[in-house]
Amino acid sequence: MELIDSHCHLDFARIGDLDNILDQCQQLGITRFVVPSVDKHNWHTVLNLSNNYGAIDAAIGIHPYFLSQYNELDQQARLIKAQRDNIVAVGEIGLDGAIDVSLEEQLAVFIPQLKLACELALPIICHAHKAYDPLLKQLRRNPPSAGGVIHGFSGSLVQAQAFIKLGFRLGIGGVITYQRAKKTRQMIAQIGLEHLVLETDAPDMPIAGQQGRSNSPVNILKIAQELALLTEQPIETVAKITTENANRLFSL
Ligand code: ZN
Repeated sequence: MELIDSHCHLDFARIGDLDNILDQCQQLGITRFVVPSVDKHNWHTVLNLSNNYGAIDAAIGIHPYFLSQYNELDQQARLIKAQRDNIVAVGEIGLDGAIDVSLEEQLAVFIPQLKLACELALPIICHAHKAYDPLLKQLRRNPPSAGGVIHGFSGSLVQAQAFIKLGFRLGIGGVITYQRAKKTRQMIAQIGLEHLVLETDAPDMPIAGQQGRSNSPVNILKIAQELALLTEQPIETVAKITTENANRLFSL
């Protein structure tokens, strides 16, 4: 059985001892890790991780939490073009409806990254907290040529289907391990596995029972087990299909 963590921040200090974590993952069959960056301060860190570890793949992005007054879009475009064959996506990019930055300011950084991804046929890794509808509107105007993933998806079934229609996969993480996340659990159970990829968002988004602790990619196994229960499929099937989805999406 082989599993992929399609979204984890292995460069963040809170992750802890990376070699030790990758060893533990290896033993559990978690064999690949897509690590998105969030702004220019970690682009090169993430690229270096991917150079140093065969199991790690990098993405280059400017996350809506890290917009600066002088954004670094030109510098980013040069880096992405130069590293086109060493990265697997543009990300983490996106929109957030719960931060104190206007949609207009967020779009000024999001849209150029979306267009660059289209131009280079790279998928996007998309953060979309409380912003599914404005995001859908932008994606319909500029449909990404290589699709992408909606990270930490927890919207409605109708929104899920709209993203799927645009060529997106939905990133499923620790939220499904919380019994109280009833709506999200029900929604996920109704979407076919062929549209899902697994992710931890480590060191953030701890799974149920581990609140207050740093999250780790080893928890991909628990997320896969929960998804198996929800979809009433054997875990081997969950692993096989979500791994194929991630491989295809990111050309791993
Ligand atoms: Zn993230």
